Amino acid sequence: MNIETMNEVIVGIDLGTTQSAVGVVESGFPILLANEEGSRLTPSAVWYGKSGEVEVGALALRRQGVDHVITSVKSLIGRRFDEVDESEGVVRNGGGLLLESAAGTKSPEEVSAEILKKLKSVAETQLGGEISKAVITVPAYFHDGQRAATKKAGEMAGLEVVRILSEPTAAALSYGLERLDESSKVVVFDLGGGTFDVSVLEMREGVFEVLATAGDTSLGGDDFDEALTLFAADQLGMRWSDLDAMARVTWLSEGRRVKHVLSSAEEATFRVPFVGEISVSQDRFRKLLSDHLGRMESCCRRALLDAQVESGDLDSVLMVGGSSRIPMVRKKVAAIFGKEPDMTLHPDEAIARGAAIQAGILAGTVREVLLLDVTPLSLGIETMGGLMNILIPRNTTIPCKAGEMFTNAVDFQCSMKIQVLQGERELAKDNWELGGFELPFEASGRGQARVGVEFRIDADGILSVLARDVATGKDTVIEVGSSAVDVTEAKVERMVSQSVEFAFEDMNARVFEEARLKANELLPAVKMALSQVGDLLDRSELQEVAEARAKVEKALLGNQSALLKEGVECLDRATESMATLLIEKASRSVFSPQGD
Ligand code: ADP
Ligand code: MG
Repeated sequence: MNIETMNEVIVGIDLGTTQSAVGVVESGFPILLANEEGSRLTPSAVWYGKSGEVEVGALALRRQGVDHVITSVKSLIGRRFDEVDESEGVVRNGGGLLLESAAGTKSPEEVSAEILKKLKSVAETQLGGEISKAVITVPAYFHDGQRAATKKAGEMAGLEVVRILSEPTAAALSYGLERLDESSKVVVFDLGGGTFDVSVLEMREGVFEVLATAGDTSLGGDDFDEALTLFAADQLGMRWSDLDAMARVTWLSEGRRVKHVLSSAEEATFRVPFVGEISVSQDRFRKLLSDHLGRMESCCRRALLDAQVESGDLDSVLMVGGSSRIPMVRKKVAAIFGKEPDMTLHPDEAIARGAAIQAGILAGTVREVLLLDVTPLSLGIETMGGLMNILIPRNTTIPCKAGEMFTNAVDFQCSMKIQVLQGERELAKDNWELGGFELPFEASGRGQARVGVEFRIDADGILSVLARDVATGKDTVIEVGSSAVDVTEAKVERMVSQSVEFAFEDMNARVFEEARLKANELLPAVKMALSQVGDLLDRSELQEVAEARAKVEKALLGNQSALLKEGVECLDRATESMATLLIEKASRSVFSPQGD
């Protein structure tokens, strides 16, 4: 009998905001598979007909303007209604959101699943067999909810998602680890259609590690199209609000065409039939983009800062994403990092090729290389006084786990609320709530209960939280991935910039809150001590205590952390001798039970 061992095929998928692609490793090389239109890139666009028909890719895109076509679903997946500013075609669904279509409302996962189904069928046609496993890439900046939702979309498309891979890691993989020496550091700069992502990676002992990552989930080529188009409309005396959907599609696609021309020409002409034309120079284009370029720069600087890497230490700056073709973007990147970026990667295909390589590694067709990723934002739980207690700091290499012991703050408390938070702010309320649960334990005196909380992040970046009541050994586990849709307001990048912007206020609030908790413990204790041993103190001591008390009480009414902290310290010092007296009194009553 002739037995042939065959490795199962796992495909690699770049599920992009504007374009998606699928690839596999064949004879050791990553190749992308072409769809029936002969293109290796499939537009991430989905159209639903009234009677349930679905079209994906270029076919769907052709209907834009005439019919409702869903695009850029990646910017909505795994996010909460309050988090997205695009409200057109988006309806609230509890905390989450749904998209409108002619066939009723659809979840972002369902829409993404249609794109994935299409890519699956492209691969099946090209490879001549059924495909059931895939590696899917997501921006490094995606939080747990977005990663989990992407995984779910894969499952809805009939794919087992064997790995969620960060895009910069995929880019570095397709650059080729063999081109990187031990401890070399690279930057992956990815500017696509709707998102911007910049990461610093390091090769250490043959292992690839993401040191830091930053980005902007709403910055990309679409913004450049829009800036160009709005400028042209204004110059041609057109009001954007007067244009209907069809006209806007025409204008925007002209904007995109002009943008592409400007990547290789000094000047381009924006032309709209029956309206007019206007010439756009590089200089004008630079002005239109200057805001965006500024935002890009601050993300790059933050990534370097977080990674604690000087631009002089960088071995390469890799540029990927369709918008990295814009000469002005390249110039800016060269200026920021102080070196010419490496343009050897294919801007549109590098991520999908990297995903294919990772898929090959997992399927056993490519030599194993270990890849490490990091957490984009800090993870923690809410503790007394509404403070954020970080368990896993931002930019921690995953997979990872971390734990801490907590206790009850109140006598006879019989449960504890565990609120899982993600973010960089000092106060719990300013961070995102990823989920929470009530952990019951046996009622006991204050500080007696022992609750261990452990956070675990698996290789896919999905977080699960385990809480254990030490007394009973009872565990409660939640997978936060699925409830992460309940994330509040702001976006990831806004969170990071706000943590810098409000660093001073936040710190002040934390110090105040900590001092307030201390004061609330101290004041009643001092009152009780005075009633017991107050008559043993001399006048000056009594006055010192009274002054310190007044100082604390006054500071509690205000919001100045320094004053309150100082007051609490004063009160602590002023009551030292009283504390000694109390202890003496207590021991006397122990040794002479009749009293003296
Ligand atoms: P995503 O990862 O967001 O799906 P891609 O990396 O595929 O996006 O990049 C798509 C973007 O690249 C689009 O905004 C497109 O207009 C832009 N793009 C493609 N080619 C060029 C070019 N020659 N000049 C400027 N922008 C380009
Ligand atoms: Mg991309």
